[in-house]
Amino acid sequence: MTKQRTFSIIKPDATERNLTGKINAKFEEQGLRIVAQKRLRMSRLQAKEFYIVHKDRPFYDELVEYMVSGPVIVQVLEGENAMLKNREIMGATDPKKADKGTIRAEFGVDIGSNSVHGSDSLENAATEISFFFSGLEIVG
Ligand code: GDP
Repeated sequence: MTKQRTFSIIKPDATERNLTGKINAKFEEQGLRIVAQKRLRMSRLQAKEFYIVHKDRPFYDELVEYMVSGPVIVQVLEGENAMLKNREIMGATDPKKADKGTIRAEFGVDIGSNSVHGSDSLENAATEISFFFSGLEIVG
C-alpha cells in the first residue's frame, strides 16, 4: 500500500473545549502523522466555499455559521490508507451513531457539532488540502 494524505479539521466545538491534544492523540495512536497543521478562524466566505457541495442541504446556513463561530485547526494527515483510516477514526456523522472509541462518539456533541471534519474521497482530500495549505507548508 502507498502513503496517502487526507485533510482534517478540528471543529469549533472541540477547540472551545480544549480537545485539540486528545483528538490529535487519536490520529497519532492509530498511525496517522500530522504533516501540516494551523489554527485559524474561517471567514464566512471561506466556510461557504469550503462546504459549497452542501449548499442545497437544509442545514447549510447553520453549518456555515457554526464553522465561523470559533477557531478551527486545519490539518493534513498522512499514512497508509489515510483517507479511509481517518473516516474510521472519526466515526459516523451523528455522534449518537458513531462506533465506540471514535472521536465523534467520545467528543461529539450532536450531528452539527461533531468535533471533526475529514475528507470523504482522495479527490476531495486534494482539493481541500490545497484550499488551506501551500505545498511548502506540508512537511512529511
Ligand atoms: P461528514 O462527511 O461525516 O462530515 O458528513 P456530511 O458530509 O454529510 O456533512 C458535513 C457536515 O455537515 C457534518 O459533519 C455536520 O457538521 C454537518 N451536518 C450534517 N448533517 C447535519 C444536520 O442534519 N444538521 C446540522 N446542523 N448539521 C449537519
